[in-house]
Amino acid sequence: MVHASGRLDPGDSFLSTAPRNTGVKMSADPLVLSHSVNLLDARPDLPVERFLVAEPPGPDAVPMDVVFVGGGPAGLAGAIELARLAKRDSETGGSLGELEIGVLEKASQLGEHNLSGAVVNPSAFHELFPELSIDDFPLRDPVSKESVYLLTESGSVRVPVPPTMKNHGNYVASICEIVRWLGAKAEAYGVNVFPGFPVDSLLTDGGKVIGVRTTPAGLSRDGEPDGHDAMPAMDLSARVTVLAEGTRGPLSQAWLDWEGVASENPQIFALGVKELWKVKVPLDRVVHTLGWPLSTATFGGSFMYPLADDLIALGLVVGLDYPDARFDVHGALQQMKGHPLFHHYLAGGEMVEWGAKTIPEGGYYSVPSRRHGDGLCIVGDSAGYVEVSSLKGIHYAMHSGILAARQIFEALKLDDTSETGLSGYSSAVDSSVIMRDLKKRRNMRLAFKDGLFGGVLKAGLMTVTGGALPRDKITIEEDASKTRVLGKVQGQLTPDGDLTFSKADAVYKSGNQTRDDIPQHLVVGEDVSPEVAEMLEHMCPAGVYERDGTGLIINAPNCIDCKATDVVGPRWTPREGGSGPGYRQM
Ligand SMILES: Cc1cc2nc3c(=O)[nH]c(=O)nc-3n(C[C@H](O)[C@H](O)[C@H](O)COP(=O)(O)OP(=O)(O)OC[C@H]3O[C@@H](n4cnc5c(N)ncnc54)[C@H](O)[C@@H]3O)c2cc1C
Ligand code: SF4
Repeated sequence: MVHASGRLDPGDSFLSTAPRNTGVKMSADPLVLSHSVNLLDARPDLPVERFLVAEPPGPDAVPMDVVFVGGGPAGLAGAIELARLAKRDSETGGSLGELEIGVLEKASQLGEHNLSGAVVNPSAFHELFPELSIDDFPLRDPVSKESVYLLTESGSVRVPVPPTMKNHGNYVASICEIVRWLGAKAEAYGVNVFPGFPVDSLLTDGGKVIGVRTTPAGLSRDGEPDGHDAMPAMDLSARVTVLAEGTRGPLSQAWLDWEGVASENPQIFALGVKELWKVKVPLDRVVHTLGWPLSTATFGGSFMYPLADDLIALGLVVGLDYPDARFDVHGALQQMKGHPLFHHYLAGGEMVEWGAKTIPEGGYYSVPSRRHGDGLCIVGDSAGYVEVSSLKGIHYAMHSGILAARQIFEALKLDDTSETGLSGYSSAVDSSVIMRDLKKRRNMRLAFKDGLFGGVLKAGLMTVTGGALPRDKITIEEDASKTRVLGKVQGQLTPDGDLTFSKADAVYKSGNQTRDDIPQHLVVGEDVSPEVAEMLEHMCPAGVYERDGTGLIINAPNCIDCKATDVVGPRWTPREGGSGPGYRQM
């Protein structure tokens, strides 16, 4: 129900009550909300010129040979492989000499901005460290049992595990632990790892990328240096820059746009909201669910993984093409925990961490036609190497980092880091396990664009024909193009702080310690309709947006960099290093 003041009652319970930043005017009377929601009108253009700066690195630039933007699995695996190749080259009398390799990461410590499920295929660990055995890797137990359930509001039916979801041979893991372990290995190989240094822009010379510029730190809200903590932007020169910035990377988007590189389908995304629970009842298997609390028109499902006898990872992943503008993934996860299947394990336990992140889920047809250029490669989620029907991206990210490193090594040896010199990277990925797997399941996610039942039938057909049918590409539109409807305001679920949590409490559990007064990093369009504001308010899991009568309240410091609203509207841009979440075991 909408009150005369324009404030909504139901749903508010998941939102922060302490708005810190107002300002954007909305264009229409909130009392006459239209039924349909058009997002494109309110979306600002991607500020390409902000992310690609035609300037040489400054006189104090740090000279690097290769810079990896992002210290996730893709960037760190790439840096390790390159450092090992360079070491072997120098030990065998090669001509390359010592390489300066840098990894810049926006989190203040490695792992603090990484969130995943995770059940991990260990193939990339074996490839990167053939001399180590499985017990040496930062993985927890192998998957020994798994179950898939179709949920109704109060019941569940166990269904056969679809072939794409079989996890025999895979391991439960925490991506934070994986990243910290890879970071230590990288440093041991002499890689310069710089946590707390977000890359703000790429430096270019003509069509070549020649380095990066970091974000300044210690600025006041109006962008001025704020006392002695202020730190100016830093430039790093690089013969090759590798974009490993993860999902919905703005630098990758800008570079692809600048270069005019397209993909057959646009990229589409899902949002995953996840909680870690200390529990008293051990979970003995990997669990996935379909159905409730999602409508049949919404793509997604939940996961519940045992990290230890007393620790469970629980999450809900939902495609951002959902039709109801008032749908709220965080709210749905809270509701889901009351279901007997989950409640059995969570009752009497404690939620110890919370977080959220998007997943690029377009698959094969959404991968850009080339992922290399003059002085640049794109790896991991930034390139869209995720196979969503199996919910796998970590090993593809690592494999792509490794393949990029091998081509960069060859290019450096030949002193040709041009587009031609690096082209072997895209072709190596195209003939690797990454694109083979994505191709086999190329229409799997796309089949669900018209709903659950048709999707299940088509996915079954694809499975029995090994992906051969349907033969043709299923075309999709980008998530922002989809017109939504404002669904009914749902009954209020009042968080009890025990099993269910408000967005404000959830953000606290993410470990977010962003300064309250840093410059605004979210670029919001000028004409945000009340309907769009309503959708942003529900979509953002961290309570950053609130519709407030004719205004939009933006609690920017709450942002945990999940990038969900960036997909449909306001643009996310890098901010001061160390801002955002502080994940420990996600
Ligand atoms: C809810 C959820 C569940 C998932 N479950 C699984 C699973 O069970 N198994 C699986 O294999 N995969 C899973 N995935 C996918 C998997 O997590 C990703 O595919 C994988 O993390 C991609 O690795 P990456 O290195 O490309 O990106 P990321 O892991 O996102 O790392 C990118 C890094 O770059 C940093 N960065 C970003 N921008 C900048 C910048 N401008 N400057 C400096 N640093 C920057 C980020 O802080 C981050 O550390 C899941 C994903 C989600 C969200
Ligand atoms: S504002 Fe931040 S936390 Fe909210 S959806 Fe956008 S990126 Fe995620």
